[in-house]
Amino acid sequence: EIGMQGEADAPETLQPRAPVVTIMGHVDHGKTSLLDALRGTNVVSGESGGITQHIGAYQIKTKGGDLITFLDTPGHEAFSEMRARGANVTDIVILVVAADDGLMPQTIEAINHTKAAGVPMIVAINKCDKPDANPQKVRERLLEHEVIVEDMGGETQDVEVSALKRQGLDALIDKILLQSELLELTANPDRAAEGNVIEAQLDKGRGAVATVLVRRGTLKVGDTFVIGAESGKVRAMINDKGQQVKQAGPSTPVEVLGLSGVPMAGDQLTVVENEARAREVAAYRQEQATKKRTTAAPTSFEHMFSALNTKVIEYPVVVKGDVQGSVEAIVSSLNKISTDEIKVRILHSGVGAITESDVTLAAASRAPLIGFNVRPNAKARQLAEREKISLRYYDVIYDLLEEVRGEMAGQLAPERIETVVGRAEVLQVFPAGKKDKAAGLLVLEGIIRKGLAARLTRDDVIVSRTNIASLRRFKDDVSEVRAGMECGAVLQDTNDIKPGDTLELFEVEERQRTL
Ligand code: GDP
Repeated sequence: EIGMQGEADAPETLQPRAPVVTIMGHVDHGKTSLLDALRGTNVVSGESGGITQHIGAYQIKTKGGDLITFLDTPGHEAFSEMRARGANVTDIVILVVAADDGLMPQTIEAINHTKAAGVPMIVAINKCDKPDANPQKVRERLLEHEVIVEDMGGETQDVEVSALKRQGLDALIDKILLQSELLELTANPDRAAEGNVIEAQLDKGRGAVATVLVRRGTLKVGDTFVIGAESGKVRAMINDKGQQVKQAGPSTPVEVLGLSGVPMAGDQLTVVENEARAREVAAYRQEQATKKRTTAAPTSFEHMFSALNTKVIEYPVVVKGDVQGSVEAIVSSLNKISTDEIKVRILHSGVGAITESDVTLAAASRAPLIGFNVRPNAKARQLAEREKISLRYYDVIYDLLEEVRGEMAGQLAPERIETVVGRAEVLQVFPAGKKDKAAGLLVLEGIIRKGLAARLTRDDVIVSRTNIASLRRFKDDVSEVRAGMECGAVLQDTNDIKPGDTLELFEVEERQRTL
């Protein structure tokens, strides 16, 4: 597809790159404080000097000289909105949980958004300086959401911190670096740049400005590019320290000037060879965007699968209900529908109205959003319309399950049912053209019919597959011949055939499966 993420880079061109980290958690648990603390400390002295510039993301250099990029737009909604636009920029999520407050609704949402994206998580138990801090209770409550920290035999790293007192930050950084090492993050810096918009706005003096996170290649001043459906030429670039820079490599956030219009967060930037090509790609993307807007909502299953390449097909879904009892009943019934081939994946379930968080999560995974006796709030409804996600409302659990079952069954390849309709013995074989053979047959059982699929067996082993191109009895073309009679047949694409072989004819019916 024109202007989409290009082909993979050759392994020998890949070089290590900095991890990209997003911070999530419940409101007031300390996301902003932690971002500020990480930015202010743990950097080589002098590095943090100068005026810090808010550009939507920043990079720190650790004492060991490693780079880490933090997205400065904390929260799971921004994260999933980006994902819905195809921008999976986050490598690692830091889940902030206040040790005094414990797990709260948005903590659980953040966990589910992270899991849906398949991004590894590090738990930062914050506010450990407080007298009523209870980090152990946080770990125990995380268990209930299948987040198992290392101390409890799991694989999720956790660390006690205080953003306020700047405690535990070194340990947190070490865990980020460790996780990053496990991920073996690489990119090719020596190619035309590709990146994603982190945020963008119209600036009074400077025009349209976008913060771009470079994903691969190196973005340079003077480069011609397309962002979303806009094109442009890099007039200037400013880094997170407010300095003008000439180039930006993989995992580097940079403010880009020289855009023709304001793109959206998540939009992709692609550097192209010249302006003619930029216009072509921009026009193509504009057309695609219009098409997308006019296409019907994806009520069917084709958009809803995230794991088509794995053996088990997943049917992701977000469930909201009016009371805990009905939500639990729905979740447990949905989980029971799963078979070896397809299984329901509940991305998130909860009690209460459908919120923006539910919608962004559903949109990012192309999952339907089920409301049982609940409706979306106004903002969620608007977002659902914009993202064209499939909202379904039910008030009878049976109806809900039947519909999901039907859609899931529709995802399975239809069952092939073969019925053998006749068998014949090969009496004689004659050449018939380059690939075909003519054969004298004696029909042993059932019927053989022109046009039917057939296989030749010898000592109960299939030697070839063929088709009956024509049938003759004496001098006449016939369409079928019954048991006990002899006939001549032309068999398509047959080489391996001998007198004594058995020709087996069968009909194939494809039947839609049920669950
Ligand atoms: P956010 O909504 O998650 O971004 O949370 P903020 O960073 O705005 O923090 C919310 C409140 O918690 C602020 O009043 C912070 O000063 C306070 N806070 C954040 N981190 C800590 C901490 O480690 N210890 C204590 N005692 N207070 C903290």
